[in-house]
Amino acid sequence: MLTLSKVNKRYPTGDRALTDIELTLPRGQVMALIGPSGAGKSTLIRCVNRLVEPTSGSIRLGDTELTRLSGRELRRARRAMGMIFQEFALVDRLTVMENVLSGRLGQVGFWRSFLRRYPADAVIEAFRLLERVGLPHAIDKRADALSGGQRQRVGIARALLQDPQLLLVDEPTASLDPKTSRQIMRLIRELCAERDLGAIINIHDVALARQFADRIVGLRAGEIVFDGRPEALDAET
Ligand code: ADP
Ligand code: ADP
Repeated sequence: MLTLSKVNKRYPTGDRALTDIELTLPRGQVMALIGPSGAGKSTLIRCVNRLVEPTSGSIRLGDTELTRLSGRELRRARRAMGMIFQEFALVDRLTVMENVLSGRLGQVGFWRSFLRRYPADAVIEAFRLLERVGLPHAIDKRADALSGGQRQRVGIARALLQDPQLLLVDEPTASLDPKTSRQIMRLIRELCAERDLGAIINIHDVALARQFADRIVGLRAGEIVFDGRPEALDAET
């Protein structure tokens, strides 16, 4: 379970991106973060994985206070958060399998790890995940030979290989067509249910959020202006 309490972020430029955010994400819940550009959605997600330092407040994952961690502890905590990005962030010249494995072994000493202590369990699990996301035939393809939807499936498999406790998902469908976007959102939703994983999904498309999220949190100018089930959002608008 993830808990944000009184989280504030003010950038050095003076921009107040988040004000007193209170949020609890239970296991298994898919939460969509919606709101206009500049509302603070990316900042919120980045505070959780500490790509952005919150100015004040507490962010706990299970028993761990994330805002106090540094160095090795922070790296370990980040491994418990699967991250899925808008631009897929794959290494084009590597194969699908290599990209998925890099989620667990890390980009930097990837080849050294691969050659010295070939982690058979990771490879087997990567096969399983690629099958689950619908890419069993693409393992040897180079990442740059894939379609956008396939690339996002690789990104999802890579995030899951770390066996995360939650998923942080930043605009997963921004560069996909509507049909592929729905497929990707459905896949994320199904995987969260199968693995009892919570997810925070920063998503522009309110219709997609309504269709696939358990809960919608609306941000405006750094404050939560809506928090409830998708049906409640329908009633309000
Ligand atoms: P969203 O993801 O909802 O579009 P952001 O989190 O990107 O919103 O931005 C929230 C606010 O914080 C905006 O006013 C934005 O200009 C500001 N902001 C975001 N990143 C930075 C940064 N690195 N430095 C200064 N201000 C930033
Ligand atoms: P999005 O809204 O899609 O998340 P943005 O275009 O707002 O993306 O931001 C892209 C990048 O620029 C991010 O790394 C963000 O932190 C940074 N950024 C956004 N607003 C500002 C700002 N006012 N000053 C400096 N950096 C910013």
